[in-house]
Amino acid sequence: MARYNDASCRLCRREGEKLFLKGDRCYSEKCSVVKRTYAPGQHGQQQRRKVSEYGLQMREKQKTKRFYGILEKQFAAYYELAFKQKGVTGENMLRLLESRLDNVVYRMGVGASRAEARQLVNHAHFTVNGQRVNIPSYQVKPGDVIEVKESSKSMPYFKNLIEGGNTKNLPSWLTFDVANLKGNVVTECPREEVDLNVQEQLIVEFYSKS
Ligand code: SF4
Repeated sequence: MARYNDASCRLCRREGEKLFLKGDRCYSEKCSVVKRTYAPGQHGQQQRRKVSEYGLQMREKQKTKRFYGILEKQFAAYYELAFKQKGVTGENMLRLLESRLDNVVYRMGVGASRAEARQLVNHAHFTVNGQRVNIPSYQVKPGDVIEVKESSKSMPYFKNLIEGGNTKNLPSWLTFDVANLKGNVVTECPREEVDLNVQEQLIVEFYSKS
């Protein structure tokens, strides 16, 4: 699978805000957005020109893609799927993104970042309704039970998680019992629970013009 392998912090500096791609470091004073408040690259320190409407839409799309760690082709496929669904396309798209298994694992408090959660899923540490699932883009649905695989629970990573307790605020649409490393998807993700600085309408405008 293709993936972005360059420095994650450059992505935040390009967007001019924290995308929280590196776990604890993002909350520390080492965060590059705090240390270097200009865009990356040779011309990064030059004054930014006024951004066109198209530019705003494109940046919003790029930022959202990067929040979820998804590349262009797959992100465009989410838009297509969201467009075909009933309801508001932008909200549909965010719901599809939030319902990815790697995001749900991250939201449950497992993994310091979405990238770490994705790696845990890739390494087949989770089951959904008792079946092993190692596909980060797997779409969960209300009623699904997500659990760390029995044989993985003794790994130091998960033991530490149990000892440390769940320090993350769980969204209302998920439950997670850290002692048993098991959680539920209660409902679909409501728009107000997507706590990212995203204007999905700009993304819809971007794709509807292309
Ligand atoms: Fe972004 Fe985190 Fe790097 Fe800060 S530390 S620039 S929030 S990835």
